[in-house]
Amino acid sequence: MAGTLSYDVFVNDPPPQGGLLPNGEPKRFSPMASTLIYGNRDAVLTDPGMTEDQARVLGDWVAARGRNVTDIFVTHGHGDHWFAAGLLAERFGARVVASAGTIAQMRGNVATRPLLWDKVYAGLIPPSPVTAVTVPGNRFTLEGHELVIVEVGDTDSADTSVLHVPDLGLVVAGDVIYNGVHMYLGQSEVTGGFGSWRDAIDTVEALQPRHIVAGHQNSELDDDAGRTIAQTRQYMDDADELLMTETTAVGFFNAKIDRYPDHLGRMVLWVSASAIYGVRARPGEDARQIILASWL
Ligand SMILES: [Zn+2]
Repeated sequence: MAGTLSYDVFVNDPPPQGGLLPNGEPKRFSPMASTLIYGNRDAVLTDPGMTEDQARVLGDWVAARGRNVTDIFVTHGHGDHWFAAGLLAERFGARVVASAGTIAQMRGNVATRPLLWDKVYAGLIPPSPVTAVTVPGNRFTLEGHELVIVEVGDTDSADTSVLHVPDLGLVVAGDVIYNGVHMYLGQSEVTGGFGSWRDAIDTVEALQPRHIVAGHQNSELDDDAGRTIAQTRQYMDDADELLMTETTAVGFFNAKIDRYPDHLGRMVLWVSASAIYGVRARPGEDARQIILASWL
């Protein structure tokens, strides 16, 4: 007989970095959420963060729960969600699990490290070998309860997935759903708009979750599935509207802040604006290079 599962969420602080935003605020990355799904003995950890400091703080939080961490699940390839996975896998003797598509994207993010991540967070990120493995049928178990990896395609990056825990009415959504934090929109210049992302949200909604853990969230907000889905859609609707009315990246940045004064992660808002307006200003140039430069 399977016992009851529970889950708990830890929201890590963004790492320090240099530079200022157009409004004079210091650049600061978004808070990153990790979820511990646990039974009586065992646990599964998701999206274990990026830097050595984050890994230590998260690891101490996990260790205090006294469970045997069997698996670490990674929702998508962006390094902020998993570059520290190796440290935590070693600390807890856990396996790292992801979809085949996400594993390919993880390798791509490792290749991008020297051009992007290590420039912005020099010396803070541990070695990040890709040790993740797939699981048969994208399913694995925790004390007899099924955990299902649902592949949802292009959202804020390519080949993204979410983790569905039916017995908890829970979806760990990575960057498919956001919660009180500015969304990274730069990928829409590669995918041709938000259509594939909207489809991914429909897929999450069809799972009928009660709770959603967003990869980037304000820790003071709840995890209500209906609210977070609606607000994620609304943020994209607003972006579509403002991309028509605002003629500059700074105008878009300011207009978004006017509409979302309490949202965290304004650095990502500025990166999104720089990427989208930069690509549109230079048709024919390599969009990926322009998007990469907008992070630096
Ligand atoms: Zn992210």
